[in-house]
Amino acid sequence: MSSNIIVRRICEQCSREFIARTTVTKYCSKTCSKKAYKDRIKAEKIQNSNIETARIKEKPMDLLKAKEFLNINEVSQLLGISRRTIYRLIGAGELNIIKVGTRTILKRAELDKFLNQSGTSKPLNSEPQKQIAKIDIDQMDMEDYYSVTEVQSKYGISEKGLHSIIKRNKIPKIRRGWYSYVPKTEIDNILN
Ligand SMILES: [Zn+2]
Repeated sequence: MSSNIIVRRICEQCSREFIARTTVTKYCSKTCSKKAYKDRIKAEKIQNSNIETARIKEKPMDLLKAKEFLNINEVSQLLGISRRTIYRLIGAGELNIIKVGTRTILKRAELDKFLNQSGTSKPLNSEPQKQIAKIDIDQMDMEDYYSVTEVQSKYGISEKGLHSIIKRNKIPKIRRGWYSYVPKTEIDNILN
């Protein structure tokens, strides 16, 4: 390209006319060139993000995987296990839940933790109970209380069965963190 020829061009960034050194120069200045470069990167990022969003929308499973909080139905879909099984795992203290009003939700991180643990098969109920004592001893004298899980395994009754016994006998149910507790004396009196 000869420098004797005057090339008049319109800057693609600022639309001003400028004298270019070559016929392929697109921008009037370094500033415009830099700005154009930045805009291009930004546009690419936005496009990539839109592609990602569209991809997730197409696949409901990916959408579920991307959620931080899940309800029971969603957990059921994600793990491919029944709602009943999930409630059983919750009852056994295997899965920690969050109660929002009457709704039960699970934290994704909690679910991941559970899935990582379940690879190493451990007897149901053994671990969580040890954890209960660690987490909740603050003011309540744990010696006087059973966790709901303990009652179930001690007396071999279902969660539903225990629930109706608690309700029928108006046994005070104390909630501590993730778990519910009932007074030992009252439970033993009724079930023994
Ligand atoms: Zn320009």
